[in-house]
Amino acid sequence: MFKNLLRSLETIEKTKQLSIPIKTDSKGYIDKQCPNTDCEFLFKVNENDWRNIFRDEVVWCPMCGHSAEPKQWFTIAQVEHVKTEALTVLQGHINQAMRDDAQKFNSRKSRNNFISMSMNVSGGHSRTFIFPAAATEAMQLEIQCEKCSSRFAVIGSAYFCPACGHNSVERMFQDSLRKIRAKKDNMELVRAAFDAVGKKDDGELTCRSLIETCLQDGVTAFQKYCEKLYEMNPGAATPPFNAFQRLAQGSDLWHAVIGIGYNDLLSTKQLDALNILFQKRHLLAHSEGIVDDKYIKMSGDKTYKVGQHIGVSGFEVDDLVESLTKLATGLRASAHYPPALIG
Ligand SMILES: [Zn+2]
Ligand SMILES: [Zn+2]
Repeated sequence: MFKNLLRSLETIEKTKQLSIPIKTDSKGYIDKQCPNTDCEFLFKVNENDWRNIFRDEVVWCPMCGHSAEPKQWFTIAQVEHVKTEALTVLQGHINQAMRDDAQKFNSRKSRNNFISMSMNVSGGHSRTFIFPAAATEAMQLEIQCEKCSSRFAVIGSAYFCPACGHNSVERMFQDSLRKIRAKKDNMELVRAAFDAVGKKDDGELTCRSLIETCLQDGVTAFQKYCEKLYEMNPGAATPPFNAFQRLAQGSDLWHAVIGIGYNDLLSTKQLDALNILFQKRHLLAHSEGIVDDKYIKMSGDKTYKVGQHIGVSGFEVDDLVESLTKLATGLRASAHYPPALIG
């Protein structure tokens, strides 16, 4: 009576595998997600490059640098889709087989005219074909790796190439500057969002904190950039710890190696203003932004007295980004690094 059902179950048992296609987005990219549960960064890779450039053994997370086999990079949404599809299609096959069995049973004429029997299968899924996993909306920031030329896309920023793990010094620095600009430019949006829910005070505190972090971000980004660039110099000794957090010391180190100091790349006015911002960053990191004697001496900033709390303006953040860009561009050009090296 259940011939079709048994045959269907047998086929399922033998197959054990269900292939579910994954769609590409409008730009030809497929969704991937970092399997590191602390990260779970969503990104996209160009489908052609995924087939032709990516390695069979390992893929890197563009955000955290975690590495794992290619089959571990399905997104959580894709895995959920696969589970639902597999269950639906499995139920569909079973349901279809039971309907066929019932139809066959009902079509047989009963020898006994007094008893009439019929079989009815109702409900359940009847779909036996698979819907592919949909792609999420295309991402705006498309990146091509300088080293292996694979293409990938992210929201926000990326530090590592997913195909070769290359960590681009230049891109990291540019990403940090973009982050700083984004924080500064969206301050009004943040303020308005807090305002809208009647939390004006919280809005002010958050915005102040946001703009202060711009200094920390800028100094750290420049420090990391210098450290990486500096160590590429043949024969350059390891610089003292945190040397590139201090402008004068950093400038001397560069001068000794490439014959160019910061005063060759910035005007005195720009360098003085940048020095104030570096000192403000130091104050925020070590004394909650409360002005002390050392700050006044080191920065030459005459606008504050000891005990006051320093402020950071949007204009200062603009100046910071501009001066750091000038310094980084100048150092890179003067050091004559091949682009492939620093990417
Ligand atoms: Zn990650
Ligand atoms: Zn690469």
